[in-house]
Amino acid sequence: MDFKKYIRDVEDFPKKGIVFKDITPLLQNNLAIKAVSQELLESIGDQEVNKVVGMESRGFFFAPWLATRLNAGFVPVRKAGKLPFNKISESYALEYGEDTLEMHADGILKGEKVVIHDDVLATGGTASAVCRLVEKLGGEIVQCNFLIELDFLKGREQLEEYNVRSLLHY
Ligand code: IMP
Repeated sequence: MDFKKYIRDVEDFPKKGIVFKDITPLLQNNLAIKAVSQELLESIGDQEVNKVVGMESRGFFFAPWLATRLNAGFVPVRKAGKLPFNKISESYALEYGEDTLEMHADGILKGEKVVIHDDVLATGGTASAVCRLVEKLGGEIVQCNFLIELDFLKGREQLEEYNVRSLLHY
């Protein structure tokens, strides 16, 4: 299936000069959402996975589904101040300033095998901060999994030590 026909380019969102990849047309289409979920699952393969970590907020669309199919648990990573229990946090640089991501301290047990998932890999700042959170808790990252990779932003270079898989490349 040609998934790219269900990805909409939105110019100047969320800021002028940015062309935003909008995946909602894909989510709205029954055949496309089914097929893309299955392909994401197949891209992980049959390796052992204990937890799937999804990034707020578009990482939440597929990560819990992937977790149930892999017989794994789902762990949310959220922006600072949203999670209620004991947390660990990591900051990462934005174009201007920085942002902080948090995970519950009991989300990953030492030695667990972890897949991190998000909709888009852009500069890689978000994903590498999430990898640091997982590793702080002693998790082992078996794959960084994305629906879309914006190759020209070279996010993969920030994830050099990991197995990175993306279904669609731009
Ligand atoms: P990065 O940290 O620069 O790699 O940006 C990745 C994060 O920003 C992910 O959580 C994405 O959901 C979001 N993001 C960046 N660009 C886009 C886009 O074009 N469409 C949807 N989300 C995006």
